Amino acid sequence: MKNHYEIIIVGGGIVGCSIAFELAKRGLTDILLIEKGYLASGATGRCGAGIRQQWGSELNATLAVESTHIFENLEEYTGYKGNCGLNQAGYLLIACTEKEWDQFQLNLAVQHKLGVESHMVDLEKEVYDYVPFINTQGLYGATFCQKDGHADPFHCTFAYGEGAKRLGVDILTYTEVTALKSAGGKITGVETTKGSFEAPMVINCANGWAPGLAAQVGDEIPVFPERHQALVTEPVAPMGPHGPMPMVMSFHRRFYVQQTPHGSFIMGIAENEPVSFNSRSSWQFLEEACSVITHALPALRGLRVVRQWAGLYDMSPDRNPIIEYSKHAEGLLTICGFSGHGFMVAPRVATLVAHDICNEADPLDIKRFSVDRYRTGELLLEPSVV
Ligand code: FAD
Repeated sequence: MKNHYEIIIVGGGIVGCSIAFELAKRGLTDILLIEKGYLASGATGRCGAGIRQQWGSELNATLAVESTHIFENLEEYTGYKGNCGLNQAGYLLIACTEKEWDQFQLNLAVQHKLGVESHMVDLEKEVYDYVPFINTQGLYGATFCQKDGHADPFHCTFAYGEGAKRLGVDILTYTEVTALKSAGGKITGVETTKGSFEAPMVINCANGWAPGLAAQVGDEIPVFPERHQALVTEPVAPMGPHGPMPMVMSFHRRFYVQQTPHGSFIMGIAENEPVSFNSRSSWQFLEEACSVITHALPALRGLRVVRQWAGLYDMSPDRNPIIEYSKHAEGLLTICGFSGHGFMVAPRVATLVAHDICNEADPLDIKRFSVDRYRTGELLLEPSVV
């Protein structure tokens, strides 16, 4: 393996792999991607892999809509022989307060402007056409979008990773980047557990570990790791009207639950967690998730849980990604802070980054994602997140 490249990417999650692919597709193939575990071993392989277009801010809705278009043809797009498992069974978003219902109506206007086929759902009757077993007690309203769904996070990452490799990118797994190297205000490469590699550009996609790496050259990236947990049940017969039950999600009660095509239910709740790299499972999560979710869907009582796991959200102050060109080491680009929705927006973030590096036009302004927004107050606010 060579030890000098044009670009080094740190992190083999969906973000690092999709960026490697998009750059290689544009002819920038002299790239080394370094991953300390295996591809998708971080948050990507632990995520619910939900893909929704029902966002409240135009920016998030745009990122999600345009990413969904890529997910819809990801195998063909990347030349992947496997199945990325996209299942557009829909998302039912439930409003649990009057204020939330008012917000949902504003959200619909944003979504419709972008062509998202979302709509209000009548709670008296129509809601059961989507989720027959839902408990509507205490709900103010709901919206549904059929094109929302989920995919297989491993296959999606492998599709990008293998596509990048086929185009000439080198991928080094089980190798940790231990230090960034810089000289004279410029990035020069990385030190790893398998030796030193040189490059005039390093793209830091190490999720919760990205701020620690960036800090080595003096960059302050305000992103903090936070544990989030999920569980999966035994498979059962489809519980949706025409197949598996769509995703049911509540921002107010902070939960999501969906049935996979295989019949298992995947679910998670957001808990109040301290800043930490702890990614161990807890019985408290198991107890609380089961209680919150069986209240919303009593028919799930009695289902057996087969596995639970934990991963890290990389939380930014406004819960939106940071794309930051270093002000201290030219050539260093840090991309993190996806705050729990990085899987579903990664394809479009990757094209945005690739356009910028390759000097191609993009209707989105990459500078909006800089940490400068925390100084200027131009935050990327999103009203609807779990
Ligand atoms: P990662 O997948 O974490 O990749 C970063 C990689 O960098 C890791 O593989 C890590 O091993 C590697 N790395 C770190 N440090 C180093 C180093 N020094 N050297 C080499 N490699 C290094 N998002 C959605 O869109 N929809 C969802 O439904 C959803 N559900 C989620 C549920 C849970 C329980 C969790 C934890 C997350 C969820 N997310 C969801 C968020 C999503 O998983 C992340 O936003 C996304 O995967 C981030 O991708 P990434 O490539 O930046 O990070």
